[in-house]
Amino acid sequence: MDFARARQTLIDSLRNSIEDPRILPALSRVARELFVPSELQSSAYDDRPLNIGFGQTISQPYIVALMTQALQLEGCEKVLEVGTGSGYQTAVLAELANSVYSVERIAELAESAKLLLEKLGYRNITIGPAGEKLGWPANAPYDAILVTAAAPGVHQDLLDQLKEGGRLVIPVGSRWEQELLRVTPRKSGNRVEKLGGCRFVPLIGPGAWQE
Ligand code: SAH
Repeated sequence: MDFARARQTLIDSLRNSIEDPRILPALSRVARELFVPSELQSSAYDDRPLNIGFGQTISQPYIVALMTQALQLEGCEKVLEVGTGSGYQTAVLAELANSVYSVERIAELAESAKLLLEKLGYRNITIGPAGEKLGWPANAPYDAILVTAAAPGVHQDLLDQLKEGGRLVIPVGSRWEQELLRVTPRKSGNRVEKLGGCRFVPLIGPGAWQE
């Protein structure tokens, strides 16, 4: 299979929906086939989520592009991702930000993502385990936080890890369907923008759902 060609076809199909000119070139630098199980490699450039084991999924490429765009990255940011999973979104973020921290609650996924991202030569990514609080307070504050699992609400613990002027992009709703939100804390109250419907696996643990 010609992965490079399949990747280009997928990226061309996203041109009408993604406006920020930095996003699709970043996606074209990350080989999604490396982030999926070998038996699913031939589907790596279908625009849909794929199973990565442990009941988890690698997000749909369109959603990865949309969420990345929503973070409004310019290159100098320190970003936190909650939910490393395959590490695909982590790599896309690392293409566009200065440094990326990513937390994952399933140790096996965190380990394989870490090995792969190291092998690919990323030096600006730090992966860690999920702790007692949502996010990764020890490395806070962040310019931008991206949650890649469905949350029941916008938890204050995450907002507390943002720098002034920072933004949180997070799918909020039920366990089955959510709305993607961009939350920007302001002195006058949080600004909340709705970016469209989506479907993610649930966020599990403190501030979210039980397993
Ligand atoms: N960005 C990933 C998405 C993986 S799915 C990718 O594109 O591959 C969401 C991931 O969030 C799962 O791997 C799941 O284990 C993880 N997760 C769920 N709750 C979490 C929590 N509280 N902290 C960290 N990771 C969590």
